[in-house]
Amino acid sequence: MNIVVLVKQTFDTEEKIVLEGGAVSEDGVKFVINPYDEYAVEQGILMRDAAGAGKVTVLSAGPARAAEALRTALAMGADEAVLIDDSRIPADEYSVSRVLAAYLTGLAERGEAADVVLGGNFSVDNGAGQVAVRLAGLLGLPHVASVTKLEVSGGVATAHRDAEGDTEIVEVSLPALFTAQQGLNEPRYPSLPGIMKAKKKPFATIGLDDLGLTVEQIAAKTERISVSLPPARAAGKKLAGDAAAQAAELARLLREEAKVL
Ligand SMILES: Cc1cc2nc3c(=O)[nH]c(=O)nc-3n(C[C@H](O)[C@H](O)[C@H](O)COP(=O)(O)OP(=O)(O)OC[C@H]3O[C@@H](n4cnc5c(N)ncnc54)[C@H](O)[C@@H]3O)c2cc1C
Repeated sequence: MNIVVLVKQTFDTEEKIVLEGGAVSEDGVKFVINPYDEYAVEQGILMRDAAGAGKVTVLSAGPARAAEALRTALAMGADEAVLIDDSRIPADEYSVSRVLAAYLTGLAERGEAADVVLGGNFSVDNGAGQVAVRLAGLLGLPHVASVTKLEVSGGVATAHRDAEGDTEIVEVSLPALFTAQQGLNEPRYPSLPGIMKAKKKPFATIGLDDLGLTVEQIAAKTERISVSLPPARAAGKKLAGDAAAQAAELARLLREEAKVL
């Protein structure tokens, strides 16, 4: 089974966001695999092993530092990595999905079409939740978003997805694209032998020219006008007195200050 996993490198969710010159500062920041993409990598490895054949290719469009995320995925057990690193690619969901689509189309033309494409539900930094779904649209693939269970048998996939507290079960024929939700699996940590092996696994770095794409074809559809932090939270108020006094004061504050009563 040929499996391609989309991997975006993101800020560690523990990092504090600092704005500098209208952009998020990357100074001293720790980057990780987008947590939802970790579930996707793990799922790819589990599905390859269950099939007993095939390979898992991890694919990212990003700057040179994104190679680190791909190396981690290789150390987890993916077989090959491809980094599309080209400063002419705009940070725009349409542009990125077009670039990824060009790579996957190239694979199909070489007779190595993906049977399954896995990605994350959304990225924990920009959080557009668009790239993977747009990619399915561009490739004409069926897709199921936010899956919590995925099984494949005889060219058909059965996916469970969260639907507002209920579970929706969707059956699609392969090839298809799925985005991972928390709970899909328990991503493994890279082992030391895994890290050593990863150093010898195929790792390709390519650009727009290798994909036969022009800058015009991937022109951004969106423009970021500004970035700002949410307003600082006002300090809380502690009410004093017995329960009756506190309840009366709370009612007064809700009526006179918050004006919600
Ligand atoms: C040269 C270059 C530099 C970049 N620099 C930055 C940067 O500094 N900061 C930054 O946040 N982004 C950067 N990107 C990535 C790009 O901006 C994002 O992919 C795009 O903004 C969409 O992200 P999102 O958060 O909206 O993804 P979402 O739509 O929320 O992501 C959903 C899922 O789609 C997949 N996906 C998303 N983006 C990618 C990707 N790039 N590659 C593979 N799979 C992906 C993942 O599986 C992800 O879980 C860069 C890209 C390139 C090519």
